[in-house]
Amino acid sequence: MTMTLDAQARKVSHAQMYIGGEWTDPAAGQTFPTVDPNTGETIAEIPRGDASDVDRAVAAAKAAAVDWQFTDAIARAALLRSLAALVTENADELARLEALDSGHYLAKAAELIGAIPLWLEYWAGLADKVGGRTIEVPGNKLSFTLLEPLGVTGHIIPWNYPLLILVRSCAPALALGNTCVVKPAEDTSLSALKFADLVHQAGFPAGVFNVVTGLGAEAGAALAAHSDIAGITFTGSTETGKTVAKLAADHVAQVNLELGGKSPTIVFPDARLDDAVEAAVQGFCSHTGQVCVAGSRLFVHQDIKDAFLDKLVARLRTAQIGDGFDESTQMGPLVSKTQYDRVRNYIEIGKSEATLLYGGGRPEGAPEGGYFVEPTVFTDVASDSRIGREEIFGPVASVITWSQENELIEACNDSIYGLFAVVFTQDITKALTTARRLAAGGVMINDWFGELPMAPHGGYKQSGTGREEGFEAIGGYTQVKHVTVNLDASLRSGADWAGAPL
Ligand code: NDP
Repeated sequence: MTMTLDAQARKVSHAQMYIGGEWTDPAAGQTFPTVDPNTGETIAEIPRGDASDVDRAVAAAKAAAVDWQFTDAIARAALLRSLAALVTENADELARLEALDSGHYLAKAAELIGAIPLWLEYWAGLADKVGGRTIEVPGNKLSFTLLEPLGVTGHIIPWNYPLLILVRSCAPALALGNTCVVKPAEDTSLSALKFADLVHQAGFPAGVFNVVTGLGAEAGAALAAHSDIAGITFTGSTETGKTVAKLAADHVAQVNLELGGKSPTIVFPDARLDDAVEAAVQGFCSHTGQVCVAGSRLFVHQDIKDAFLDKLVARLRTAQIGDGFDESTQMGPLVSKTQYDRVRNYIEIGKSEATLLYGGGRPEGAPEGGYFVEPTVFTDVASDSRIGREEIFGPVASVITWSQENELIEACNDSIYGLFAVVFTQDITKALTTARRLAAGGVMINDWFGELPMAPHGGYKQSGTGREEGFEAIGGYTQVKHVTVNLDASLRSGADWAGAPL
């Protein structure tokens, strides 16, 4: 591994891509800068891989695929466990890289990195337990299915939870016998490169895991379009997800998409108000609102609206916003200048569409040059306004007051998205009835979101296809082969009504 982090200077030197078990520069020799969102300063130059580098990586992964598929599952699991241990050993450096590159404040980055071994161990545990089934067919025949890996899988990663999202798809892919080519987001490549170093140290065979850094429209599109990629997992915007799905469709690759959201947080009048307020704050401020499941639409019952909003504003006033390496910080910057401009633009749109209750500006004392915004709350938001419908991906909440349950459900479901929802009530019947009526891939009752390797995560409607995590993710990284054996001494056993002769 040639990449080194100077934690004091907040600089990284000599980042290279990882292809076929080796560190390498891009064929064209180009790089692009990645910046610290706390300051706007360049941290490192990142290799700008293009289609020829993707080609190299896919060829390496393809060459490694057959041996890896037939490596004992127990041995694949052992490698994943070694990798989990190495992540733990290197957690401090990984957390610093993640904080520096993505804007997660350091304590949160450390928490996220600390959780990553759970995913590696979960899939290590399942590697030798996943299998097919036997089928009762007529005649003296044994019929069964094999669950086989897809082959080479592509993984296009977003910038909001860079390493966690990489691991949540690569861990099952590797455990189930696939070889991987990863394209990290251009804003946050560093933790993927450090992770590749740990994959190397763990002893994974060359070519089983590869990282090509680069731009989405170049390296990302080349990966999705590559005819030797059998499956592609993408997390990011709905718009880019559609592009990736179309590129993959041209060579009929399997696609897993985890896309955008505009998730409702619903507060019933009997809710424990302090808990609901805290969940609402986590819902739209966690990672500065750059969360796919962000609870950016707050549906508050009219009877408790005033009390709720008073508590919400009081809570927001206590939020510590600043440089992610400052120990008191609870909310860091947005990831990039692009995202900062995008969120600021939505705040301006909000001012023309609704009433600004809180925030809307730059936090006092925030470091110069960093991409900081205040938590922002709009009230009197119409369900059909832009801030009520579009994914903002910043710490901006749209409060919508409701009184009738049928209208509430209709408004919650009136969205192109269907990723997640949060419901606050002490009435279990109401909670479960609401959960069943919501068009969303996940519902949390009386709590805020928490992602775990064992619980399926994914979206309805334009929030995605397929599921990450849990048993439900197995189908995303395997294909089914049906095998039947004639156990008779002769060719035909007679009971096969659908078979030959012609
Ligand atoms: P994108 O969806 O464009 O980026 C996600 C990943 O896709 C990145 O690795 C990106 O590379 C890559 N990519 C971009 N264009 C292509 C392409 N043509 N073919 C293949 N891969 C491509 O998200 P943005 O970074 O542009 O963010 C915009 C919005 O997307 C956010 O404001 C937010 O609304 C949403 N988003 C949702 C996420 C989620 O968790 N569901 C995560 C991130 C964003 P590169 O970084 O080089 O562009």
